[in-house]
Amino acid sequence: MKTPSPIDRSRSAELFEAAKGFFPGGVNSPVRAFKSVGGTPLFIAKGNGAEIWDEDGNQFIDFCCSWGPLIHGHNHPYVFEKIVATLQNGASFGAPTRKENELAAFMLERLPFIDKIRFTSSGTEAVMSALRLARGATGKNKILKFEGCYHGHVDALLVQAGSGLVTFGTSSSAGVPEAFANETLVLPLNDAEALSACFEAQHHDLAAVIIEPIPANNGLLLQDLTFLNLLRSLCTKYGVLLIFDEVISGFRVAFGGAAELYGITPDMVTYGKIIGGGLPVGAYGARKEIMAYVSPEGPVYQAGTLSGNPVAMAAGLAQLELCASPGFYTQQAKRTQTFVDKINAFALAEALPMELVCVGSIFWFSFNGKKRITAASQIASEMTAFNFMHHFLLDVGVYFGPSGYEVGFVSSAHTDAQLNYAAEQIIAALAAFYQK
Ligand SMILES: *Cc1c(COP(=O)(O)O)cnc(C)c1O
Repeated sequence: MKTPSPIDRSRSAELFEAAKGFFPGGVNSPVRAFKSVGGTPLFIAKGNGAEIWDEDGNQFIDFCCSWGPLIHGHNHPYVFEKIVATLQNGASFGAPTRKENELAAFMLERLPFIDKIRFTSSGTEAVMSALRLARGATGKNKILKFEGCYHGHVDALLVQAGSGLVTFGTSSSAGVPEAFANETLVLPLNDAEALSACFEAQHHDLAAVIIEPIPANNGLLLQDLTFLNLLRSLCTKYGVLLIFDEVISGFRVAFGGAAELYGITPDMVTYGKIIGGGLPVGAYGARKEIMAYVSPEGPVYQAGTLSGNPVAMAAGLAQLELCASPGFYTQQAKRTQTFVDKINAFALAEALPMELVCVGSIFWFSFNGKKRITAASQIASEMTAFNFMHHFLLDVGVYFGPSGYEVGFVSSAHTDAQLNYAAEQIIAALAAFYQK
């Protein structure tokens, strides 16, 4: 099997050269730079439905979907219409608008585990604010996180496991003081024993545990339900707040995210991505007793010039209304499963050391044999197969986020024909790679 002939990417290449003069590494967020897969990024000119076009006019079926927000694809007519209608009245006021009430009411009616929310402008901001609130509400300092979970670029969470048995973190980014990192404990995912031991030793000063209940930023590391339930019961037993970071999983695997899918009640939740309909929105929420600590009701300060921006609220509400239609999540999961099964059947028949893992409409190429993996340390460090496939697929019009550690998304805009074409091309790419 031969590889496809390369598409013309000269305009993107020129734009990237110019961008390098403007931005560190030529980008405004690191993973966009194609460092992981090699080569230079495509500059995207437009998107419609499940498709995007780059500046050279090449067309792609998009499985990145802006890294998750676009659950209904690009420029969904209903979302578009609501954005434009709202924008006609002005972009921002820094004063309350009806749109904030509307989105909040729509969410809270369907999210039984939280009474109140606060809107922010990004997932990072939501997480940062939730941690401050957890500390302010409990009067305790330490936070426990899990290795391989990403929670945005919050100082206290840019932390990796220290060496040996000590679970205190060390910073994983320059510019994060060790003193901050020392306030964060880090444990491996899905390790019940380590979790119990850590709670026993550290619960006195533990304000909160933060977890992606569906870890989807470093592979898709589906956890045992027994582990998540143990986490819930330990938090309850020791009076530690359980924060579900549902910035990816919220409104993605079910309207109520992993909390609804797994039937586990967190104390606090953070949202982002889908909640903004493609515009910048994040949110955090909790029971009203906890939210009462937030300023101006309480002593925990948190604010934002563009928080609750009416245009972003309108986009979010339109998108969530579409998500709430009956059968939406069942249908999305079914279509994703069909897509995944097709590729997995080929991998199985050819005995390839890979498989696709999926939940809801999130999927991930696991190049780890057929072994189910649940922790960051189990992911193969070798990404040659994904990198080969990524470049192969660009040349045949299929776009994935440029890193093998990232998941892909199926939107409601992906047609069966597009999914079938993409599956065929993925199979061709895998066949070409493993024949080499
Ligand atoms: C994307 C993401 C964030 C950060 O959100 P931004 O909007 O990029 O700041 C935080 N937590 C999780 C789980 C995410 O997937």
